[in-house]
Amino acid sequence: MTRRVSIFGATGSIGQSTIDLIGRDPGAYEVVALTGASNIDRLAADARRLNAEVAVTCHADRLADLRAALAGTGIEAAAGEQALIEAADRPADWIMSAIVGAAGLAPGVHALRHGTTLALANKESLVTAGPLLMAEARAHGATILPVDSEHSGVFQALAGERIEDVERIVITASGGAFRDWPLDQLAQATPEQAATHPNWDMGQRITVDSASMFNKALELIETKEFFGIAPDRIEAVVHPESLIHALVGFRDGALMAHLGAPDMRHAIGYALHWPARGDIPVARLDLAQIARLTFRPADEVRWPALRLAREVMRTGGLAGAVFNAAKERALDAFLARRIGFPAMAEVVEEVLTRMSSEAGLASDRLNLDTVRQMDHLARVRADDVIRERQ
Ligand code: NAD
Ligand code: MG
Repeated sequence: MTRRVSIFGATGSIGQSTIDLIGRDPGAYEVVALTGASNIDRLAADARRLNAEVAVTCHADRLADLRAALAGTGIEAAAGEQALIEAADRPADWIMSAIVGAAGLAPGVHALRHGTTLALANKESLVTAGPLLMAEARAHGATILPVDSEHSGVFQALAGERIEDVERIVITASGGAFRDWPLDQLAQATPEQAATHPNWDMGQRITVDSASMFNKALELIETKEFFGIAPDRIEAVVHPESLIHALVGFRDGALMAHLGAPDMRHAIGYALHWPARGDIPVARLDLAQIARLTFRPADEVRWPALRLAREVMRTGGLAGAVFNAAKERALDAFLARRIGFPAMAEVVEEVLTRMSSEAGLASDRLNLDTVRQMDHLARVRADDVIRERQ
């Protein structure tokens, strides 16, 4: 039987790896929706090749271009935020959520309301609205499968275990582009330098977030929200080789590690075939050749984002939405060369401080509207802080 699948963020790094896996066994899948942003040619080419029902760009003003690129194919073209939601409302058995940023939340929530299986690469959904996402999944009998490599590793180490027996979860971090840079040179780091990752080939934004450890900060929060584990049981450790993705420690002292080549097709493929396992074309590790694996502490002075994540987990409520939105704006400003690399964490910290005195940050009134409002407010505050610094 063919499975109906949709891919949100199909033109990105995760989306393309997902298409790679699906394209290897085209008879097994019926592609419902593919979505993208400004890369209309890529979106249209994949929609044609996979014979999708509908292709959607989030940019309303690109509808004509998308229509033209799909002319004569019978594939529907749609554009804009509402069109993304409508695509998420189309019945599908499996949906990849791989839009980058807070924009991934609403389509994911809509998909869950139809009881689908949501493969979640968009960690920002869990950071901004974890309790909402998990509650929607429970209420509608939907399944969320983690696609972040660390969380997929934890999920696999937990198969057959009880969460009550977990003493701690350790997620690893490569340390990103500036792992070995002297601290006093970070202010001179350029976006191009930050967007070079030692081990993983990923989208530009997450690669810069790896250098600043904002990616790991988001992942600490993601771990808390997805696995429902107390923040003081979640650790990050720097592991430059990126071969162990995560470890789960149990009450009897056992530590189960998940190892694999740094290739996102593993985590994507695991979610695609779950609860079975499929043949995934990733490199196999030669342990004798690797010879050794190394670890070092995740230094909160070098990477203040990790300290901020702890604060956000303590506050809970809408703090994650503020953290993520402020981070997105600070990242935009760094990429536009308006602020330096270390200033990203300073901006986010200042926004958290200013907004913690405003009402409602710790509120548990979490729904798509309150999250959207808080996200908007945090972006305005972040822009204020960035402007004041210039
Ligand atoms: P990417 O930048 O390569 O792709 C992002 C996708 O989202 C593209 O299809 C783009 O068209 C679309 N998009 C961008 N802005 C949008 C908007 N406002 N509305 C709708 N669509 C929009 O990013 P990526 O590296 O593939 O990451 C996607 C998600 O997966 C992120 O949440 C990231 O944190 C997560 N993730 C990525 C990796 C990786 O290896 N790349 C690993 C773990 C988790
Ligand atoms: Mg990750």
